[in-house]
Amino acid sequence: MTLHALTILGATGTIGVNTLDVVARHPDRFRIVALTGQNQIEKLAQQCRQFNPRYAVVLESDKALALQAMLAGTQTEVLVGMEALEFVSSLPEVDSVMAAIVGAAGMRPALAAARAGKRVLLANKETLVMAGRFFMQAVHDHNATLLPIDSEHNAVFQSMPASFFRHGGDRDLTAHGVRRVLLTASGGPFRTRELDTLKDITPEQAIAHPNWVMGKKISVDSATMMNKGLEVIEAHWLFNAPPAQIEVVIHPQSIVHSMVEYFDGSVLAQLSNPDMRTPIAHSLLYPERIEAGVNWLDLAKIGTLTFETPDLRRFPCLGLAYQALAAGGAAPAMLNAANEEVVAAFLDKQIPYLAIAATLDAVLQRLAEQPAESLADLLAADAAARITARELMAENYANRV
Ligand code: NDP
Ligand code: MG
Repeated sequence: MTLHALTILGATGTIGVNTLDVVARHPDRFRIVALTGQNQIEKLAQQCRQFNPRYAVVLESDKALALQAMLAGTQTEVLVGMEALEFVSSLPEVDSVMAAIVGAAGMRPALAAARAGKRVLLANKETLVMAGRFFMQAVHDHNATLLPIDSEHNAVFQSMPASFFRHGGDRDLTAHGVRRVLLTASGGPFRTRELDTLKDITPEQAIAHPNWVMGKKISVDSATMMNKGLEVIEAHWLFNAPPAQIEVVIHPQSIVHSMVEYFDGSVLAQLSNPDMRTPIAHSLLYPERIEAGVNWLDLAKIGTLTFETPDLRRFPCLGLAYQALAAGGAAPAMLNAANEEVVAAFLDKQIPYLAIAATLDAVLQRLAEQPAESLADLLAADAAARITARELMAENYANRV
């Protein structure tokens, strides 16, 4: 059997590490062509020693030199820069690209993989939020295969009729009998916290997610439910779903990962323990199912599955994402970029928790209309939103620095 050749973008992050965990369970099925990282150079070197990729990529030359020294005597060649990320995402020998860099930085290599017609395993939801129209067009034009890794979208993918994803189809939900896509959300660590104490939330509290272990940025996004907002936009592009057909329901146990409702009243769901190795393993050799190392689901032990409607006073970021999606154009890209800036400032203790939503709201109001006719337009909107977010934070919270 020929080995399935993989590039893992963001190998040192939580999705990257989980991907390598699944890969290591199937040494006779996979070959790693490239691994990439940013700051965790020692970890990347250790991964390279274990998986022996042809290339390792980092973004900065001093880190590349350090990595090269650590990998002396191995067969791994160290490359540097954004072009190198694009290169390892589009090499002819690569079958699948796991796109697991965090943030807008992951967009260009994910797009390169789509343009090279790869199987793109997309964890980096920011790519779709920023540039959904262009990314989906590239997937279509270059006959790439797009497999969602985000657990909710992976669940929707699994619950949708297979015919929906065939190439050449018009991807019309209604034509496939689908009434609604129901995205579940855990509600994060502050689902039941008293509203008047939200102002005191610290970064340490915000990144302590009750069910999932994730990178810091997505953990804060889960606390504010911006993560679910970004996922609504992600679902819009992946499933060609109008906002009115995407509903968010809070499900604190994180067992039902999302659902698809059909016109006959049937609701199909995908259930599993909250462990990202399940959607990763589902996609790695799709449609083949492989062992993921995940504990069996013990429903009797879990006992109760509950569902509630999200409260937009508690989670204003979710409302902002629906607003940006309805506004269209560059609004989602601006929301995403401003969110990266405010979350970084919050993690750095420069702004309080409630300033996250307040600043994002102000950015969207200030920058209402921006062109979105090309990728360059979207990158310009992204840059403008970052500047505006930083200006607003400096105006309103400078005394905290
Ligand atoms: P992490 O922060 O754990 O990992 C991010 C990875 O990207 C690391 O390998 C990091 O390198 C690398 N990286 C960071 N910044 C840059 C940059 N500017 N250029 C190139 N590489 C960079 O994030 P997660 O693994 O949690 O998330 C990755 C993506 O997957 C995100 O888009 C997230 O929304 C999505 N996702 C994650 C889920 C999860 O359960 N974690 C669930 C669903 C989606 P280094 O660590 O070496 O600095
Ligand atoms: Mg998710």
